[in-house]
Amino acid sequence: MRGSTSGGCQCGRIRYEITKEPVGLAVCHCRECQRQSGSAFGMSLALPDGAFRLISGTLKTFEVKCDSGRMKTCAFCSECGTRIYHQTVKGMSVKAGTLDDTSLLKPEAHYWTMRKQPWVLIASEVAQIADDG
Ligand SMILES: [Zn+2]
Ligand SMILES: [Zn+2]
Repeated sequence: MRGSTSGGCQCGRIRYEITKEPVGLAVCHCRECQRQSGSAFGMSLALPDGAFRLISGTLKTFEVKCDSGRMKTCAFCSECGTRIYHQTVKGMSVKAGTLDDTSLLKPEAHYWTMRKQPWVLIASEVAQIADDG
């Protein structure tokens, strides 16, 4: 994951830094991640406590109920709306597509594959979990 230590939003006001080695990358195919991304799945880079540092810009937050039933705090750029991170009782994860360098991202597991679009093909060596595990 080296080299993936900074990121930001689409309008450029939000800039952030990841100061500790991330825990791992999860791809989630749940309906909430599909809706949030406007796409087929979401990518969440789990971070250890205290690893996220906001450098510039203003984040707004709101709460949403996940497919798992847990509540999730969602943080986004107050100007352009780009989703930056999610926080649940399980921890914090950055939306990995907002990193400046996404070339080193490698999923450790796919979640909610029961909701996966049928045309998304997952490499057989990567763990697949039907729901949120
Ligand atoms: Zn922005
Ligand atoms: Zn999800």
